[in-house]
Amino acid sequence: MKISLVKTTDAKPKPDENNLGFGRFFTDHMFIMDYEVEKGWHDPRIVQYAPLKMDPSTAVFHYGQAVFEGMKAFKDKEGKIRLFRPEQNMARLNRSNERMCIPKIDENFALKAIKKLIEIESDWIPTAPGTSLYVRPFIIATDITLGVHPAHNYYFMVILSPVGAYYAEGINPVSIYVEPHYVRAVRGGTGHAKAAGNYAGSLIAQQKAAQKGYSQVLWLDGLERKYIEEVGAMNVFFNISGELITPDLGDSVLPGITRDSVITLLKSWGIPVVERRLSVEELFKAHAEGKLIEAFGCGTAAVISPIGKLEWQGQEIEVTGGKIGELTQRIYDTITGIQSGKIEDEFGWVQKF
Ligand SMILES: *Cc1c(COP(=O)(O)O)cnc(C)c1O
Repeated sequence: MKISLVKTTDAKPKPDENNLGFGRFFTDHMFIMDYEVEKGWHDPRIVQYAPLKMDPSTAVFHYGQAVFEGMKAFKDKEGKIRLFRPEQNMARLNRSNERMCIPKIDENFALKAIKKLIEIESDWIPTAPGTSLYVRPFIIATDITLGVHPAHNYYFMVILSPVGAYYAEGINPVSIYVEPHYVRAVRGGTGHAKAAGNYAGSLIAQQKAAQKGYSQVLWLDGLERKYIEEVGAMNVFFNISGELITPDLGDSVLPGITRDSVITLLKSWGIPVVERRLSVEELFKAHAEGKLIEAFGCGTAAVISPIGKLEWQGQEIEVTGGKIGELTQRIYDTITGIQSGKIEDEFGWVQKF
């Protein structure tokens, strides 16, 4: 399939690299292709970034049949564009598609399209420290009907947004509220898919945590509300007595690519890392015994987000004296170093073009 290109003649001014924020600016072009049952995925094209004209009855507005991905592109000293493990995002997109009854995309083709779009927009890749071009592929159901069923028509789209460091103040430890009531995902549900509705359902807990003065939510399992699953929209790691523990993957935990990278790094450093169930009770007990050394969330947007405080059942504990842990910092420096090209990519994670 050939990707057609219609270049816009009215390019937008570039935003100030030092004040990008997250997801506030979008580049001049976007990628879009259609799906119809008879034709499959077809008509891939790069066109001017512009609002979509859609019928009010379009399925995605009502029943949320939608999935997305998120990754970052960087430009290195030689001017090469770098993507971090993008084939993993394409594979996960198809796993999300499967769960949400969305027809699969051709992963190689989708990645080719993403690279072509980024190349066209390469002037938009910011180079100030901590900045990158955030890539947001997504698929939405476009049937014009109120019937509840897997749609017969879809858009696969990719938009690009130059972003700053996720936390404007730099990587400072965040405070976390352990959510006792609301859950993000349940066994048999959609938690392992990057499905749009997961995020809509999580907002109320985020709002509650913010009202209580905490910046993120620690999610517990949906069945017993006992075992730790994720933090905000990130995977989570705890350093207990020098062993790194992260919740094991089931269908209620999102299999993060950053999570997988952290596990790989730790193993390569000879640091013990286990994927297992960890109850919040065990965590607080470890803290009481002085064994909880570090805690951090991880995901593409923030990369690594140290946890400085945790609140559970009226008890507030401080982790690493409210500072960033030594290992946490090392992981952050290594992943961001590999992404930007400052550190050698010994795992073959970066695709350069
Ligand atoms: C995207 C996401 C993550 C992190 O995944 P990465 O591939 O590391 O970006 C973790 N949890 C949730 C709920 C997510 O949506």
